[in-house]
Amino acid sequence: MGEELNIDLEQERKEILNAFRGLLRTIKDRSKEDTRLIRKAFDVSVEAHKDMRRKSGEPYIYHPIAVARICAEEMGLGATSIVCALLHDTVEDTHISLEDVEDLFGEKVRMIIDGLTKIPEVFDENASVQAENFRKMILTISDDIRVVLIKLADRLHNMRTLSSMRQDKQLKIASETKFLYAPLAHRLGLYSIKSELEDLALRYMEPEIYADIERKLKSTKDARNRFIRKFVSPIKEALSHEGYVFNIKARTKSISSIWRKMKSKGIPFDEVYDVFAVRIILDTPLELEKPDCWRVYSIVTDFYQPSPDRLRDWISTPRANGYESLHTTVMSPGGKWVEVQIRSSRMDEIAEKGLAAHYKYKESKTKESKFDRWIAEVRELIENPDLSAMDFVNEFKLNLFNDEIYVFTPKGDLRVLPTGATILDFAYDIHTDIGDHCIGAKVNNRLVPLSYQLQSGDQIEIITSSKQKPNEEWVRFVVTARAKQKIKSSLNEERKLIALDGKEILDRKFRQHNIRFCSENLSVLDKYYKVPSTTELYFRIAKGKLDLTKLRELENKNGMLSLPKPKSTRVKTRRKADVYSKIDKKHDEIIIGEDFKNIQYQMAGCCNPIPGDDVFGFITVNEGIKVHRYNCPNAEHLMSKMAYRCVKARWQNSDLKESVAAISVYGIDRVGIVNRLTEIVSNQHNVNMKSISFETDDGIFEGNLTVLVYDTEHLNQLMQKLEQVEGVQRVVRKGVKDLD
Ligand code: MN
Repeated sequence: MGEELNIDLEQERKEILNAFRGLLRTIKDRSKEDTRLIRKAFDVSVEAHKDMRRKSGEPYIYHPIAVARICAEEMGLGATSIVCALLHDTVEDTHISLEDVEDLFGEKVRMIIDGLTKIPEVFDENASVQAENFRKMILTISDDIRVVLIKLADRLHNMRTLSSMRQDKQLKIASETKFLYAPLAHRLGLYSIKSELEDLALRYMEPEIYADIERKLKSTKDARNRFIRKFVSPIKEALSHEGYVFNIKARTKSISSIWRKMKSKGIPFDEVYDVFAVRIILDTPLELEKPDCWRVYSIVTDFYQPSPDRLRDWISTPRANGYESLHTTVMSPGGKWVEVQIRSSRMDEIAEKGLAAHYKYKESKTKESKFDRWIAEVRELIENPDLSAMDFVNEFKLNLFNDEIYVFTPKGDLRVLPTGATILDFAYDIHTDIGDHCIGAKVNNRLVPLSYQLQSGDQIEIITSSKQKPNEEWVRFVVTARAKQKIKSSLNEERKLIALDGKEILDRKFRQHNIRFCSENLSVLDKYYKVPSTTELYFRIAKGKLDLTKLRELENKNGMLSLPKPKSTRVKTRRKADVYSKIDKKHDEIIIGEDFKNIQYQMAGCCNPIPGDDVFGFITVNEGIKVHRYNCPNAEHLMSKMAYRCVKARWQNSDLKESVAAISVYGIDRVGIVNRLTEIVSNQHNVNMKSISFETDDGIFEGNLTVLVYDTEHLNQLMQKLEQVEGVQRVVRKGVKDLD
């Protein structure tokens, strides 16, 4: 027995060494020092894992060797990554500590191993736990991208060897792979790894569908190859004739993407026209890449008619993940569309191996900064405390799966946005302030609303207004994570301001009932009204959504702390005085109703006054003046305790009512003029814009605005301001008519 085991082990040792030599052979141009370190990492890992076996029964060390090989061969990573891949499971699963790793391999390797160890390898059924793990992983991108790359290699090998796992585990791992890892690989530009991960996931999640498509691909293979040979033959000849060094491959679409297409289009396998693509890879120096690729395009389309709407030029404008290629779809003699991809061998390597190859060829600064920008965006997303892990994953994936569109600023700067992006996304992409105040845009000289979806090639001039601010609706208009997050945080800010008013109302109520304003009492209310936070409590109070009449009852039931008699109200009083002095400066001598045009006011929610009621105004902290009825339940308190903040009010005479006025503006079209005009309209006191349209013809523009004004004086003020805008030559009034 003992002897037999020894022979087995001896044999195994030989096989392990063979696997390791296989790994070494895949590492191109490695130095002596590289080889020494990799050998050392291998020895440490073999020793550490020596008593461990995988589920399949094979020695554990095969796994780290395979992961290292994926890093070298399929991602083009260097010696440090290979060392880390060999060690990736040692700290977590064996006696080796992070300190050992640092002693043996230095600080950098320790950092990467630490990052890898921190990503929990638990396949949790709970999607939000998965999401949290995923967020942790993405977080490491900002430390060192290699952590994520090695993690992906690890996952790929686990997927390749998934068959030895229990079925329930297979499903969990497969769905997590599809849910998180494949999108991540896609984002990093690792196309072949992404496709393989998706295919493997599908194989375990939908085994019948997978087998069916696989079988169909196999049975159509011969016919397909014949077709391709015939299709490429004239191209080959022409390219050789022109002296190109090239390689033509036919790439079959992955099973999962064929399935995706069948599902999304609702078509059977036979109707998927792009089951394969023909790829022409040119051996050409960097400076000739672009002209050569276009020359090949010209040759291909000499033989076959291209479809004009399926031309994709990712050479002039690479995709955000670095992908470069020229795609066209042409009609073959048999009446079948065929996709042809044209690229240089450098582009091909980037497409296959993604980022790593990208870094290897980092001659172009602009391309790298694109990736940096993406990292910065992801970091912004991660660091947003308001976003739950689940939201994060959803946002992240949303930005991934969408294709990109290319749009331009008025000055011609290029911006890359996901498909489906609106002008609001664009506005937030430029700057948060521009997004927050966006009221519309001029797209290719045509005025469009906030929700307008952009198309590649659009040139966009955003129109802002200082009065504009985000509202809840906006979230539905945007697709980018950045815009969504900015809108949400701006809405939160707004809520907090409104909550301040609620706080004051509650403070007042508490005083009336002799209840102390303290956190204990507040949490009694939070619980009673079932609100998640005190801010939310204040907010709802300010919005008049909570019934505070039960306060007495509540106090009796819960025994809330009462107000001590000699209360030090000094701090509070001072705060209110501050607020008052601020408002005071603006509205010192204003009486509501006598000068509606210059102040902001609204009807109080507690008594909802209507015209004709006896009313007075109360100056709130953040919502301007609130109009209450004299018989409002709060009136007595407001007027007795805060008389200094109450102002006289009466309803406006019926002769001052808003009218619709149409104005035409003529002048010379220039960048920003629409923005400037709308800004003036919206900054003019109480002028509301009903509609706006602009037309330009040979640099001359005509703008038509419809606004709501009180009287001719009001309108004249506005027209004078518009006339002063640079470029405007004439402002004409088109007639005033009554509203209704
Ligand atoms: Mn592993």
